[in-house]
Parts: sequence; C-alpha cells; structure tokens
Amino acid sequence: MKNVRRFAFLMVFIMLAVAAVGCGQAAPDDDTIYISIATGSPAGTYYPLGAAVAQVLNDNIEGISAQAESTGASLANITLLHDRENELALVQNDITYYAFNGVEMYEDAVPHDYLRGVATWYPEIIQIVASADSGIETIDDLVGKNVAVGAPGSGTEANARQILLAHDITYEDLGKADYLTFSEAADNIKDGHIDAAFLTAGIPTAVVQDISTVKDVQLISFDEAKLDAFLDEYPFYTKAVIPAGTYPNQDEPVTGVAVMAMLITHSEVDEDLFYEITKAIFENLDTIAAAHVRGGDLQLETAMDGMPIELHPGVQRFYDEQ
Ligand code: GLU
Repeated sequence: MKNVRRFAFLMVFIMLAVAAVGCGQAAPDDDTIYISIATGSPAGTYYPLGAAVAQVLNDNIEGISAQAESTGASLANITLLHDRENELALVQNDITYYAFNGVEMYEDAVPHDYLRGVATWYPEIIQIVASADSGIETIDDLVGKNVAVGAPGSGTEANARQILLAHDITYEDLGKADYLTFSEAADNIKDGHIDAAFLTAGIPTAVVQDISTVKDVQLISFDEAKLDAFLDEYPFYTKAVIPAGTYPNQDEPVTGVAVMAMLITHSEVDEDLFYEITKAIFENLDTIAAAHVRGGDLQLETAMDGMPIELHPGVQRFYDEQ
C-alpha cells in the first residue's frame, strides 16, 4: 500500500514536471504579432518577394513574426484577407479593383470594401507559353488545344478568360481548359500533356525559365489588331513587351499586356502597426530588390501608380510624412 502511494506520488510529480517543461516550451510569447503574407505558387514571383518582405519585417520590427505563405494567388489571397487569415497579400491591381467594387467576377460576391492599399509594385505580364511542337503561333491557334489557364482562384485564370474572349475564344473552344498552378503547368508542358499555358507574373518568371531550359517553347504575342479595343475595355491592362533574350532561345521581343502587382491589407490591422510595417518596407528596399529583379521596382515615387483602392491609414500616415 505504501509502495502504491509512493508510486502514485511519483507519477503525479512526473506529470507535473512534464507539464511544466511542456508549458515552458510551448507557451506562446503573448506579445508576438504574427503577420502572414499571402503570395502565390513557389514557382512564381509573389512567393520569393513575399518571403523578402517577411524577412524585412522580422529583421526590423521587434516582436513581429512574419511568414510568407504559398497560396492559389490573387483571388485566393483576397478570400484569405476576407477571412482575416492573413494581414498582408500580394495581388493583381485589376483583381483588387474588381473585388473592392463588386464587379466582373465579384459581381455577386460578398463585399470586399475592407481591402486597403499599401503599394503598387511591378508589372505582371500575362505570358502565353506554347510548346514549339504544338504549332501554336497566335492566340487564335489555341482553339482545340489543351491549355493551362491558371490555378483556381488565380488572377492568371481571370486574365486568361478575358484575353481569350477578346479573341472570340471561350474555354469550350479549347481542347481542354486546365486549372493548373504554375508548377503543374510547367510539368504538363514538359511532358506534352498540355500545349500552352497562361502565366501572369513579373518577368523573368522562374517557371518560364524552367520550362524553356528543357523544352522548345515560344511566347505568343497579343494580336496587335485587337490590342487597342482590349485596353479600352479593361483599364487596368497596359501594353507590355517581353524583351528579346528574357528567356533561353527567345530571339524576338513579344508584345503582351500587363497588370500591376501590389501589396494590400485589410482595414482592421492596427494603424500604428501598419505604419511600422510600411516604414520597414520602404527603409529596406535593398533586401527586397535582392530577392528578384522585380523587387527593385518597389519605389516610393511609383507606389501610387495604378492604385485601385483607398490606402490603409497607417500607410497613408507614412506617405504623408515623406
Ligand atoms: N499574378 C498571379 C496570380 O494572381 C500570381 C503571380 C505570382 O505568383 O508571381 O494569378
């Protein structure tokens, strides 16, 4: 009996000791501010740039734990902000405008008037990559072909639909419209399962470099005759050129359209905190520029170009002080 009691006492002691150690390790630092940055596919441009922003915040703001998250990109990121899952996101400015104003694909959606702007950043060109053996040379040639139109919830997918429509092509006219992420699109072009892919991203885009090192591909130009009408219809697109030599074996410049990548947040993030976040970002542009060529496009002077929504008050305060 004595032994049983001693054993019970020992067990309770061990349990308390384990609990105490466990608490010590797992107890979250209550003052830590977690910032989750919604980006895109690791094979795109949002992800490395979002990771650079996270690093800047971690290195420069005490008490912050920031992390870049891989996601389905623009529309998926807006949903994450809506659900208050993330505090910062990279998105396209066209999609942000549609969401904030409840138009286009957001016509019947819940309101997204809580979205707040931080900065517009760099042009994202809607790149149409076709395998050379598919015989595709123009957008019209996509009819009957298997095409990756972007991941579900991506800005890419919205761009693909609008661009095809401007050429009187719907998804039904394709052999197949495949909703693939950047990496899936690359794998499927490489093994011949699809003929072409739409990819909206800053250039050079890692995934396009990746495809073109192992497979003969060509980048397809926008039909010049249809360009002006398209730009009139959708004010967020601008004409853009992919300079010759951007990708392996790309001898000619390619004409396309671009939208702007931008950083957004939601209205409930604390004003002082967001002031600090904005300040840290603009005081550490070198770190961000080192992550990808397009990182260097983030500049105070151009951060309002093509800004489709009102700014977060913390951001506004920072800009007002400059
Ligand atoms: N702009 C793309 C989209 O929203 C994502 C680009 C990237 O991941 O770099 O679909």
